[in-house]
Amino acid sequence: MLFSELGLPEEIIRAVDEIGYEEATEIQSKTIPLLLEGRDVIGRSHTGTGKTAAFGIPAVASIGKNNKNTVRVLILCPTRELAMQACDELDKFAAYMPWVRTCAVYGGADIEKQIVSLKRGVNIVVGTPGRVMDHINRRTLKLDNINTVILDEADEMLNMGFREDIETILGFVPEERQTVLFSATMPEQIMAITEQYQHDPVVVGVEQKSRTVDSVEQFYFDVPMGRKTDALQMLLLAYEPKLSMIFCNTKRMVDELTEQLVSKGFKAAGLHGDMKQQSRTQVLNAFKCGRLNILIATDVAARGIDVDNVDAVFNYDIPQDNEYYIHRIGRTGRAGKTGAAYTIASGRRQVNDLMEIARYTKAHIEHRELPSRDEIIAAKSNAVIEIVKNCVMSGKYASYAEQVNALSEEGFTAEMLAAALLGMKISSETRNVPEFIKPVFRPEKGRNGRDGGRSVKVEISVGRQNKIAPNFVLGALVDATGMAGKNFGKIDIYDRFTTVEVPEADKEHIIESMTGTKINGQKIKIKLYEGRETRHGGKDYRNLDRKRDNGKRPHRGKPVGGNTAGRRSSKRYQ
Ligand code: ADP
Ligand code: MG
Repeated sequence: MLFSELGLPEEIIRAVDEIGYEEATEIQSKTIPLLLEGRDVIGRSHTGTGKTAAFGIPAVASIGKNNKNTVRVLILCPTRELAMQACDELDKFAAYMPWVRTCAVYGGADIEKQIVSLKRGVNIVVGTPGRVMDHINRRTLKLDNINTVILDEADEMLNMGFREDIETILGFVPEERQTVLFSATMPEQIMAITEQYQHDPVVVGVEQKSRTVDSVEQFYFDVPMGRKTDALQMLLLAYEPKLSMIFCNTKRMVDELTEQLVSKGFKAAGLHGDMKQQSRTQVLNAFKCGRLNILIATDVAARGIDVDNVDAVFNYDIPQDNEYYIHRIGRTGRAGKTGAAYTIASGRRQVNDLMEIARYTKAHIEHRELPSRDEIIAAKSNAVIEIVKNCVMSGKYASYAEQVNALSEEGFTAEMLAAALLGMKISSETRNVPEFIKPVFRPEKGRNGRDGGRSVKVEISVGRQNKIAPNFVLGALVDATGMAGKNFGKIDIYDRFTTVEVPEADKEHIIESMTGTKINGQKIKIKLYEGRETRHGGKDYRNLDRKRDNGKRPHRGKPVGGNTAGRRSSKRYQ
């Protein structure tokens, strides 16, 4: 539907046209007329469908010239970024309505400044529940004349524990009002709020076949333990997204990953709730204008952030919640553009968790092999060569020919010089390409289980000294090899090493996939256990090991597979 068909004032139609919206989205077409009528509305539609304009346009339209200094509309948002963003959008809709005055109030920013703005007289206040409460308590925000209260991202506000604040705030607003609620999901808690605080609401839901956006292609990579950061770098180097967001589950991980990527020369910065408001704003602005091209964030900090042209989203950690997955990948492929979402899984458990998310969201998440180190180096070399060719064609550095001639008199041929320069340039460009990452092997179903075939022992270079327990070893084996836990037999832990009984048929695969991995943070070496039984004429090798290990008895891990005990530890991995 066209905006001109929605009964909006001329000024707004003009402003929306200038923003560049051609047609109203479905949620907008359905809710704007109802909101203009003054109805209470519950609007549900997924991320990126234009909910801000759906409530923002009628909010702006409701402000008449004679409203002067009274607050008529209160909009509550879960985070400071969203409040700022929504407020900016409102200002755009009101571009030709100079009498409309808006103000964003959120925590982490100077409250005095906000008080000054509020005192000057505003009609629409956009804020986070906590800060709005603060202003109510200080009597710097009067709610007596409010016509409309809008709860944006209501589900997230409840998740963040704002329920009490919201209820208190609603208690301050005259009962004779319009109450509007927008949300991507409608959990029961929200229905309870609507029942209590809305009057005969119209429910407007926009359905979608899949819970994720069609405009986002989704892939996942199955990488060995301890190689996630390398895998991420490979992907960034190979795909070279112009603007990308990387999601982690914790603030600490955001900080760590940011540090690592920055040290490798990426233009990255982190965004999370422990940062000062000022630096959050700086980071976000730098990202919006492209000075930074990688934003690393937690779910909460990134909630609803609307930056155009994000072409890739990376899930460094598997989202802890199905809804988070949807919100994360909704940061790309927005407003008619396409995008890609890449999830990096490590270990069987993470792959399973991701498959669970795919089932829930009905998303198609395709498995992909990581780009290889060689491919990336080849691509970077070609890019350098292209640049060099272009330089030659443009004659940009032609004046250096003189120096080359001078050097050729010293016996250096142009070929030698060119090769050295090319080599220098290419190696500096490819210096940070991570080492080879071995593809993870996930055997077909049916190959699992010890089949009574021959078994051998492998020796892993960590032991009791490294605070190793059999479960760690089993977990690492399962994760690195992709084999089920029941394939592995007895695990014996000695002071400095550990032996594991493994199927003879898989020994090469096991050694290959375990090499270079870590157990309990310790990089390990692995080799075939040279059965000391044979070397020492059938003696009990454990006695010899005990001598080697200062006479301490090995920690005898129970056999974890088969029909014996130890099921508990192996179950998780199957
Ligand atoms: P939501 O709150 O549903 O996640 P937003 O309100 O943040 O979505 O809008 C997502 C993006 O779509 C924004 O970049 C917004 O400017 C853009 N957008 C909104 N309405 C339209 C429209 N009618 N036509 C084109 N783009 C739109
Ligand atoms: Mg929104």
